[in-house]
Amino acid sequence: MICRASVVWGTLFCNAPISTWPRMRWNVRLGDYLSPTTVDWPGKCAMIIWFAGCNFRCRYCQNASIVPPGSGRECALDELRSAIKDNIVWIDGVVFSGGEPTLQEEALTRLSAYVKERKRGVLVDTNGSRPEVLERMLERGLVDQVSLDLKAAPEKYPQVTGTSPAAAAKVLESLKLSLGSKAVTEVRTTVVPGLVGAKDIESIARLAKDCDVYYLQQFRPEGDLLDKSLASLRPPTHRELMRLGAIAKRHMAKVGVKTREFGVQYL
Ligand code: SF4
Repeated sequence: MICRASVVWGTLFCNAPISTWPRMRWNVRLGDYLSPTTVDWPGKCAMIIWFAGCNFRCRYCQNASIVPPGSGRECALDELRSAIKDNIVWIDGVVFSGGEPTLQEEALTRLSAYVKERKRGVLVDTNGSRPEVLERMLERGLVDQVSLDLKAAPEKYPQVTGTSPAAAAKVLESLKLSLGSKAVTEVRTTVVPGLVGAKDIESIARLAKDCDVYYLQQFRPEGDLLDKSLASLRPPTHRELMRLGAIAKRHMAKVGVKTREFGVQYL
């Protein structure tokens, strides 16, 4: 949760050059961090930082333990700055994921600025629910890639994400902002049998047709699932995903299908 003092500081300093912001002790609710990997930012070696806390409740979420507010641990930004500094020679950039990283705007902005000042890239992995945060970061040139989840057709957002119908409009606003910026826009959908299927992919592909790349991801009934009843659900097959990929490909230039069996395949 962002405290009132943080909001006041954020308001005071959000328009000032980042280098002039006062050096003070900021904290973040942290899930974990890991470095370096070549998995989370394809083609790059990147450190990943998971922020704790999310405003969505996707039934198939595999990060359930860091979804509730107050989950994770309180971590000083200096600890993360040190971790980034220790790895700076190895990495091309840092992936900020979660949870939902835009819920902790000050921490996300400060860490992104730290990375950019060291000439490394920033990827923000977001559910798109806070376009105003994304907009401020994009305006400051703090984001090189937006990896945006379009989880279902807009009308199905409440069913799939446990949010209000207004959430989808926010996500589409984030999509528009990213597409209108210099950042690379990656869009992703997790295919879940009986929950997210062909109609959703058709709708998403039309809405996000101008994105740089679209990935269909295979739901896996494993890990830290938010809805434990999905543990018995079968994952979509490679064939089913390729068929859905072909639907997306009618509208989009670059479509990839990610499966456990075959890794990433482009159509
Ligand atoms: S999958 Fe859904 S609930 Fe889980 S972190 Fe992402 S947006 Fe939040």
